[in-house]
Order: sequence, then structure tokens, then C-alpha cells
Amino acid sequence: MAHVLGIDLGTTNSCVAVWRDGRAQVIDSAEKERTTPTAAGQPTPGQWIVGAPARWQAQTNPEFTFSGLKRILGRSLEDPLVLQAQSMSPFSIEASPDGFAWVRTRDGLQSPQTVLAHVLRKMRSSAEAYLGEPATACVMTIPAYFGIAQKAAAKEAALLAGLQVVRLLPEPSAAALAYGLERGADKTIAVFDLGGGTFDVSILKIRGRAFTVLATEGDQFLGGDDWDSRIIDAVADPFRASYGVDLKADRVALQRLRDEAEKAKIRLSSLEAYDIALPWIALDPRTGQKLDVFHAMTREALDELTRDLVARLTPPCDAALAKAKLTPRDLDEVVLVGGMTAMPAVRDAVRLLFGRTPRQDVSPECAVAIGAAIRGAALTGEIRSITMNEPLPHSVGLELEGGAFHPILKRGAVTPVRKRADVFTTSQPDQQAVAIRLYEGDLTVAGDNRALGVLILDGITPRPAGEARFDVTLDVDAD
Ligand code: AMP
Repeated sequence: MAHVLGIDLGTTNSCVAVWRDGRAQVIDSAEKERTTPTAAGQPTPGQWIVGAPARWQAQTNPEFTFSGLKRILGRSLEDPLVLQAQSMSPFSIEASPDGFAWVRTRDGLQSPQTVLAHVLRKMRSSAEAYLGEPATACVMTIPAYFGIAQKAAAKEAALLAGLQVVRLLPEPSAAALAYGLERGADKTIAVFDLGGGTFDVSILKIRGRAFTVLATEGDQFLGGDDWDSRIIDAVADPFRASYGVDLKADRVALQRLRDEAEKAKIRLSSLEAYDIALPWIALDPRTGQKLDVFHAMTREALDELTRDLVARLTPPCDAALAKAKLTPRDLDEVVLVGGMTAMPAVRDAVRLLFGRTPRQDVSPECAVAIGAAIRGAALTGEIRSITMNEPLPHSVGLELEGGAFHPILKRGAVTPVRKRADVFTTSQPDQQAVAIRLYEGDLTVAGDNRALGVLILDGITPRPAGEARFDVTLDVDAD
């Protein structure tokens, strides 16, 4: 089999790796970075700028620079996560003809998967340049809590980019693979993943080469961007008090400040102090003189500004351990994923939460893509096979007459799985067709869960109500 790419499509940044010469190798982007910003911008209709260059043009084109799309992928416009994303988004998020969250591009309304395909296409072409041959298959990682519609949307994004998804892989399992945990003894581990926009913590059980995610918790609106915002406020508030100029109200100034704030945060992971300097960021309204920002920042001050953000890391970790019925002592390893785990205050928090020093031997930004490449190598037979026991994050079932939800496969059922439900009957005399409405979720009223689709079974021979009987079998594959 040809090479199978390992792709981590992240909320903020994405990464691609491939198994070559006996190990997983990260493929640099066209800009010679290990990751590619998950962003695409449209300066004019029909034209797309992707990855790092999309970020660079964001300050002059905010309405048509799309980022964070993984949050809304495969979700309806009414989904609480979408509503929250919508309230903070500089671009317009609107309903598709069938109620999904789509975005308004310069070429009209498009699905998030269509826009994300630009990012995947760019990564695919970097991979092809690196391999010197076409790449058409991938293992793609997804959050452990992704439902069926989100998984389908992720696969569609890859397909639009010319990539067949040979397997979907939960991000925490991918991270565990990256740390070589399939090679050791039986272990229970925590995967702590803090990226630019989201926080996830998962507990996994590893038995030989079989992986099971026991619990996943997180905060969908906690990430490095929040740390950046605190630095922005710490600079912009005193600037306004001194000069009466609101840097946050000036789009270009704000973007410059945002970039510099992120840089300061990153530098303060290795340095104790960093001077934020932004020459000629505004004009003094009274004198017409050029104004500069100069703000001496220390790691200690940054930690002080963001103490409450660090505190928000605790409840999801406690909840994940409780769900897995474990205490920190039961864990054998803690592994780190996501760029923000380079921050000393975050590492200290992890150490405190889990009572152990986390593993730091794999780059946290690339761990998930590396794991996906290892999974790909197991599928092509380059290394020994690996088993992923993936519990369903939500129950799957159908709507009963009257609207109640009847789960056939319960949350936690390990896939792949096939289950035959009870026997169903017709409810009307001479009924010749039934509509089987499938839902995913855990609420008692079917309509409150996520609709997956409707199956029409017709051609039923007319009979009195309740006499036509039929079986429903649900078959859920590894993806
Ligand atoms: P990810 O989504 O995993 O790529 O993580 C991106 C986030 O990590 C962004 O908020 C980055 O600013 C942040 N980040 C990357 N490197 C570092 C670093 N060395 N120290 C602190 N934060 C970092």
C-alpha cells in the first residue's frame, strides 16, 4: 500500500506526519513550519489563501478569514457551541438549507468542510512534495467526543481535498501512540491537551496493543487565545487611560497587538521577561504625534494575569478521573498535547493535578499527527497491528411513536458493534410504509437529540395495525 498520511486537523493548527524509514516523520508546511494554521482567507471571490498566509492577511480581511471551523463542523446552527462561536466570530455563520452551521464566503454560503478542505489540500501537497509521489489516503484524528455527523463532516473535508480517510482515530489515542505506549506494559494514562482554542483531558486504558478511551472531559472555550487576550488587555487598558486611544477598537492595531501578545506568551515559556514593543501603533488625538507601545512583561506578571484560566483546568481533570473511577495514583503516565502545554504555569498545574511529572519527550504540537502516522503504518502492515476500542460517545437509537427516544446502542458501547433491536410493528391499519428516524444522544425525547437521518421502509403488505413486524439492526463500524 502507498503511504498513509497521519493528519491532525486542529481547531487552531493542523499537522501532517508520515511513516518513513522506520519512524513517523512530521512534514513541514510550505512556510517551513511544523504546523499549518487551520485558517483560510478569501481576499477576492474565487481566490483562497491558506495556512500561515491566511493568518497574515487576517488583519485586513477579518470578515473573510475563516478559522476555528472545527468547532462548528457537522453541527446544527442551534447547537450551543455554534451559538457561542457565532457570538465571537468576525465572519458570518449561517444556516445551510438543512440547518447545519455554514459560513458566508465571498463565493456564497459554504460548509465548514469545504473551507477546511483548502487547509487539508495544502497539507496534502506539502506531503506529496516531501514523498515525491501522490498521497491519496490518510488516518485522520478527531476529538473523542465527536458524534456521527461530525465524523462524517471530517471525512467529507478530507475527501474534498482528495484524501480517502482509511481510519478515524481519537486524538487521545493518537497521542498515546506517539509516546510509544503501545510498546510497553499495560498502562492507564491521562492525555492533557491544551491548544489554541480548546482544552480536552482524556483517560485511556492500554492493554498490550489495544487502546480504550475511558473518559473525556474538557472546556471547548478555553485555550491559548484566552491567555493572549489577557496580555492584550494588560497593554490596551493602560494605553487608553494614558492617551485616550482604544487599541482594541482599531482592527489593524488590535491584530498587531494580538500577534505580539502571542509572541510574548510564547517567549515567556522560556524567558523570565519580555518587552512588548509596537512602534507607531496609533496617533495621539491631541497632538497628532506617533504613539508607541512599550510594555515590560514578566513571566510572573503573566502568571498573575492568568491565574483564573489555569484554575479552569482543574474541574475537567477531576471530572474525567471521576468518570473513569480512578484517582491520580492509578495513572501510570501523563502525556501532554497542544502548544499551550509548553507554558511553565500549565505544566506546574498538570504536575499538581496528577501528582506526577508529565512526559515531555514528544513535541506536544505534533504528537497527535505522529500518532496518526503510526496508526497508518499499522494499517499498511509496516508495523504490528494495533486495536482501538472506541466507546460510542453518545447513544444511538430511534424515535418511537409518540416521540420518545429508544436507544439501541447505549453510550459507551465499544465499536465496531452490531446490535439487533426489539421487534417493531406498524401502528395504523393497512400501513404500507414506516419511517425509521435515527437519533444520536442521551435525552429521553428523540427530537432533543441529534437527528442522523430517516430510513423509509415501504412496500409493506397491508394488514391490521401491529401485524407487520420488522427488525432493526444497527451496525456501527470502527469509524
Ligand atoms: P495548538 O492548537 O496545539 O497548535 O496550540 C496552539 C497554542 O499554543 C497557541 O495559543 C500558541 O500560542 C500556543 N503555544 C505554542 N507554543 C507555545 C509556547 N512555547 N509557550 C506557550 N504557548 C505556546
